[in-house]
Amino acid sequence: MSIGVIGVIGAGAAAAGLLDALASNAGTDGAVTVFEPSANLWRGRPYAPDLDSVLVNAPPAIMSIRHGDHGHYTAWLGARGDEHLDPGMGTPLVPRAFYGEYLEHTAEKAVAALRERGWRVQVVPSAVLAAAPTAGRLALRTADGREHLVDRVALCVGGGTPHDHYGLAGAPGFVADPYPLARTLDSVPPDRHIAVIGSGLTAVDVAVSLAARRHTGRISLLSRTGMLPHVWQRPNAHQPRHLTIARIEQRRGGITLDHLAALLREEMADAGEDFDALVADLCAARSEAPTARLRRQVAAITAPKIGRRVLQQASHTVGPHAWALLPERDRDRLRAWSRTATSVASPMIPVNAVRLLELLDSGQLDILAGTRRITHRDGGFAVETTRAGERRADVVINAVNPPPHAVPHTAAALVTTLVDARIATHHPSGGVVPADPRLHVVGDLAGGGPFLTSSIPGLAAGAAAAARALLPAAWTGLTTRPSAGPGRGRCARPAGSRCRG
Ligand SMILES: Cc1cc2nc3c(=O)[nH]c(=O)nc-3n(C[C@H](O)[C@H](O)[C@H](O)COP(=O)(O)OP(=O)(O)OC[C@H]3O[C@@H](n4cnc5c(N)ncnc54)[C@H](O)[C@@H]3O)c2cc1C
Repeated sequence: MSIGVIGVIGAGAAAAGLLDALASNAGTDGAVTVFEPSANLWRGRPYAPDLDSVLVNAPPAIMSIRHGDHGHYTAWLGARGDEHLDPGMGTPLVPRAFYGEYLEHTAEKAVAALRERGWRVQVVPSAVLAAAPTAGRLALRTADGREHLVDRVALCVGGGTPHDHYGLAGAPGFVADPYPLARTLDSVPPDRHIAVIGSGLTAVDVAVSLAARRHTGRISLLSRTGMLPHVWQRPNAHQPRHLTIARIEQRRGGITLDHLAALLREEMADAGEDFDALVADLCAARSEAPTARLRRQVAAITAPKIGRRVLQQASHTVGPHAWALLPERDRDRLRAWSRTATSVASPMIPVNAVRLLELLDSGQLDILAGTRRITHRDGGFAVETTRAGERRADVVINAVNPPPHAVPHTAAALVTTLVDARIATHHPSGGVVPADPRLHVVGDLAGGGPFLTSSIPGLAAGAAAAARALLPAAWTGLTTRPSAGPGRGRCARPAGSRCRG
């Protein structure tokens, strides 16, 4: 049975998961053409070669790119993980470049397996700029001016690079995209005052990497809220009994935020914990001094309480299912708390939290909330804040990741042609949804899901769902349906995964 040519646009983690899932289910006749302009095939933006201080942000049990095989990454890592043990977490947390080797290895094995089965697999080292229907097929035009005919498309283009919120592009001393930090920090003089835009996980990467390079100058994290990500708590054996996908699916009449809160309340009551105290603590995240909050959370890394652990885990497992059932009013309530929700759902790893606290305590690092404007002036930067007046900085590093469902600028022209040809539509809350069964979207660009950015388990689930939809039902033993990323794919395991805020 010939299934024609599958065009995979973008070769990051999502594409690695997709190739792996295709190889696991493929019959003997097919073709895949992968389009990727970057030299770092299968690694995407986060997992390319970089400093050793740039670490993965989740334990191995939830870093498997093979959906349904939670030991896949752990098995690949083997004893090599021992030298990267995070004492707080109690598990290995390796440099992201090392994790990139795993993605590369997985994708290359999948390519070899597909070829062994007679598939034609080719990689085109060029970006796709446009798609157009032609004689029952889709013509993809690449940046090198060539045209490639495919029968189905998996859009795996990721979330893209930071937006330039303060219009600083081109200003000397402005770093528009921090990665790879091995390159961008190389040109930063060690005694300069560095202002990092953002206080999320990427800003934490920048601060701890500056420290690892023995930076002596001041480091300021600039943000509107001043809120840091919460801190991972060491995984424990607790298995949720109330806040579960099964309980959500029992409620055929729909679900509200109050129902979800009641389930968490039950979960915590069973463990003898106070739900109202957890809610009060989360509400305080917006106003509490970040250093004091960080200190309390560092002290709680190995504490036995389950409340925040369950909430963090549920945001990635129960969350996508519940989101689809929530009334729009409740989705808006959650969106209004998206900064806090993201900081709980995507915590920072203990080793980085401890380092950050040391930097704050030593006075080298500070967090400036209420940033209003940053301008390039007199050979440096003027930072205007509502709370601390004006500050000067020598170098500004942009560490604000694009919001989930943003269309990366590298794929903007392509998305426009897909929408114009009625192959895709823009989702009202951002992102893109297929309007033609030949299109599948995996990763952050997939519209319609919650506001958290994709984690590895979400990508793996989305990739597996796309593979099922791309292959004939006779091969997969499953019914086919269009896929649209993590919100649609099912994370079978209760994974407490990490996403970027
Ligand atoms: C800095 C960072 C760190 C992260 N760390 C973790 C972590 O530790 N654990 C975790 O679970 N999750 C993490 N995530 C979340 C998630 O794992 C990553 O975002 C993941 O890399 C997403 O994979 P992707 O393939 O969807 O996108 P990407 O990795 O961004 O890959 C997309 C690829 O598409 C290519 N592309 C774009 N446009 C085109 C085009 N027009 N034509 C052809 N190719 C194109 C790009 O060059 C790129 O290689 C992290 C995210 C970020 C941003």
